[in-house]
Amino acid sequence: MGVIYEVKGSSNDFTSCELCGRTELKGTVVLQPLDEDGNPSGDACYFGTSCAATAAGWTQREVTTRVKAAQTAERERENTERAARWQEQREFCAAWYLQHYGTANLIAAAVIADTDTVDLSAQALRAHRESLTTH
Ligand SMILES: [Zn+2]
Repeated sequence: MGVIYEVKGSSNDFTSCELCGRTELKGTVVLQPLDEDGNPSGDACYFGTSCAATAAGWTQREVTTRVKAAQTAERERENTERAARWQEQREFCAAWYLQHYGTANLIAAAVIADTDTVDLSAQALRAHRESLTTH
């Protein structure tokens, strides 16, 4: 039985196939070898599409489908992370307004601070950045 692979995505940085040595490919397929239990085993490989198909026992079409699925999953993961960061930032700012001006509402806090919302939110975001770099 051959090695089991999972497609991690594609790479434009690696343009040489590690299997056959062909160079100047448009891109490579990133394959992660898996052990019998489906856990990552060893380093990821960068193969051309046809070699990826040969190595994993898939058709080239399957390789393409799996690359797309991996890219979609990666995008979704990034979106989720970004949403989590935004949420965290919103919560930090609300807590910051509350702490400094007694209200979590930006507009109300800006009135109390005698400034505009752009200036005050910039201050809160700066405090947020500082809180991230200090721990
Ligand atoms: Zn190759």
